[in-house]
Formats: sequence, C-alpha cells, structure tokens
Amino acid sequence: MLKADEYKHLAGKFKTPLYVFDQREFLDNYYELLNTFRQIYPKYNISYSYKTNYTPYICALVKAQGGYAEVVSDMEYTLAKKLGYKNEQIVYNGPAKGPALEEHIAKGGINNIDNPSEALRICAFADAHPELNIKTGLRINIDLGRGFTSRFGLEPESEGMELVLKELRARKNIKISGVHCHLSHARDIEAWKKRTEIMLRAADEYIDGVPEYISLGSGMFGRMEPSFKAQFGNNIPDYADYAAVTMAEIKKHYENVKPEDRPVVFTEPGATLVSKYISFISSVRDIKTLHGRTLAVTDGSFYNLGEVSLKKDLPLMLIPEKEDAEVKECDIVGYTCLEYDCIYKNYKGPLDVGSLAVFGNAGGYSIVSKPQFIRPNCPMITYMGNGEAKEIMRAENFEDVFSKFSF
Ligand SMILES: *Cc1c(COP(=O)(O)O)cnc(C)c1O
Repeated sequence: MLKADEYKHLAGKFKTPLYVFDQREFLDNYYELLNTFRQIYPKYNISYSYKTNYTPYICALVKAQGGYAEVVSDMEYTLAKKLGYKNEQIVYNGPAKGPALEEHIAKGGINNIDNPSEALRICAFADAHPELNIKTGLRINIDLGRGFTSRFGLEPESEGMELVLKELRARKNIKISGVHCHLSHARDIEAWKKRTEIMLRAADEYIDGVPEYISLGSGMFGRMEPSFKAQFGNNIPDYADYAAVTMAEIKKHYENVKPEDRPVVFTEPGATLVSKYISFISSVRDIKTLHGRTLAVTDGSFYNLGEVSLKKDLPLMLIPEKEDAEVKECDIVGYTCLEYDCIYKNYKGPLDVGSLAVFGNAGGYSIVSKPQFIRPNCPMITYMGNGEAKEIMRAENFEDVFSKFSF
C-alpha cells in the first residue's frame, strides 16, 4: 500500500470512493515473477487473465511488457484486439466460447478446447475451410486426488478425450499445438508439482513431437501485506519455490530438445499480478452504536472490493481526520442496504467521521464484478509516485446504468 499522506493527497484531489492502481509496484512484481521463471526456463511468458481485472490501462501495460492476453469470452477477446494484440498472442480459454472463436483460430490464435462439442465445432470449421491450417490446444482436467472434481477441460484417458483426439487427428488441416490447465484453490507447492507432472504426461501423450506451448494456468500466491498473508497459514511459497517445481521440471523433461525448439511455457496469472496493486479509498460517513455494536458506515461497499473482503480481513489503513480521534472498536460497513455488507470486522483504533478507510488487495475480481446495485462505480487512478496520478477509469454515471433500458 502507499503511505498515509499519499492517500490523503489523492483523496483530496480525486474525492472518495476511489481506486488507486500502483503501477510501479505492479511492474516490480511482474518482473520478479517473469525473471524468476525465466532464469530457469527462458521460454517462459506471462499470459494475463483478463477476467481478473480487465482495466484497459492495465492490459496495455502488460502488452507493453510482452505479456500475452488470456481471454474467456468474445468481450475480452475484442478488448485484446482493440489494444492491438495479434491473434498469436491471445489465448482463448473457457467452456462456452463466443462466435469470435472461428475468426481467432483462422488468424492463428491460441485456443484451448474445453469440451467435445467445442472440438466438433472446430472440426466443422476446418472441414469448411480446407485452405486453412488450424491449430488448437487442449484443456486438461486436473485431478489432484483431493476429493474435488474441477468442471473444466478434458479428463485424460476418458471417452470424451478419446473422441476429441480421434476427430482432431482425423483432419489433415488441424494440429494439436499445446496443452493447458488451470486450477483455483490449489496454491500449495505439492499441487503445482503434481499439476506439472500431469501436464508433461499429457503433452507426451496427446501431441506429436514437441508441443508449441504448455500453459499451467494460474493460482500462485503473489506478494501480500503481512497482515493479509498471515490469514493463509504458514508455508506460503514464493516465486522461486513455484519455479523450482514447474520450470525446472519442464526444463529437465525437454533437456534433449534444442533450447529454441522447447515449448513456450505460460502461466496465466490474474490475482497474482494485480490483486495487491489496487487499493480502495473510502470515507467514514458516520459512527454509531446500536445495542452495543459500534458501526462505521463508509461510502464503499464489499461490492467495490470483491468477494475476498467477506472472507478475509483485507489490509486496512485507517487515516483519522483529526489527530486526537478517539479509539473505537467497531465493524466497518458499506453504503448498500444489505445487512451483510460488512467490509471489516472488529477494527480497533483511532477513528472519527471523515476518516479515510483504505483497503488493500482490491485488484482482483473487484472492478470486474461490481454490479450497478444501488450506486454506479467510482473512478480509478493510476499512481506514478511523487504525487503524480491520472484517471484511468471515470466514475460511472446515471446514463451508464439506464441508457440500456427502454423508457
Ligand atoms: C480465472 C482464470 C485464471 C486467473 O486466475 P486468478 O486466480 O485470477 O489468478 C487463469 N486461467 C484461467 C483459465 C482462468 O479461468
């Protein structure tokens, strides 16, 4: 997070509520991840997950660093194209792709098949266009043996997988070019080790020769504020730990292949890259006590911060308006009319009306998941340091909400 006087300055200049993107720290983290992985495996690259936070400014920043775009809908695909991406640097994933899929694969884009119907759709397109050489990858369903069945991808050695392979292989103008997977809620090292083993086995089995790419998906812990990190237990791996069980294993697997012919290896970070680097400044509008429960009402909401704010205590910086603000013990709650809009439980510290309540880790599944419920969303700025800031998302307004309705 930034320093208290920086937040005070920004809140004064732009008003609250306000999202603040810390682009210097974002890039620092981006390069720590990239360089740690490339040190072991030079053909590693980042494929940024648009759904986590598709702010165009941030997506363009990723593009400027050479990162790929990982999209899961035509809407996100269209954004990547608008930002100037070539199809070869767009990875189209997801279980229910839109009509842009055909254009994407016709232009040499990266696609990962989720299910048999999608495979048949691609076969039909290939049959209708014998002049095209089409490439596609496969999403592999990963079973870690932990009693959880992911609903995505094709199960190795299953009937569905056999059908997909048979149909794709029966066509001369289709090439299986890569394998992909993604798992959420499996951030530990063992899970990444096992994921890598399964993916290397799948690459050997389903691809003729060396794959063009292997994408390992997302789900690595990124950097976190200490108070937030402590809520995820001990043994939080860092990027070097992850690289050792992924990049080192892949390097070993292809040691007899010339380095330039080895597959490109992607991970698809969203939260790992962006969550920590957006904070949210809200203001305390009232403090009251009801039946012994003290509440601080803000002009923010859990909707601004995303689901994580209901499950964990986000990093919180309270900046009282007056120096002699009284110490309070309270729950910090949102502007909505929902009882469960409680953004922080059991805060204890100096607090007054007019305090700034700044929440960290507000970058993932926040802006993209904010409904227009009760209030349209607030603006976002990018902060470059030394008080320098610029708006990268304007506030939503009445028209944004109501122009789509018939009156
Ligand atoms: C959601 C998703 C990601 C990004 O996950 P994060 O937890 O936000 O890092 C990457 N790849 C795929 C296929 C996804 O669906």
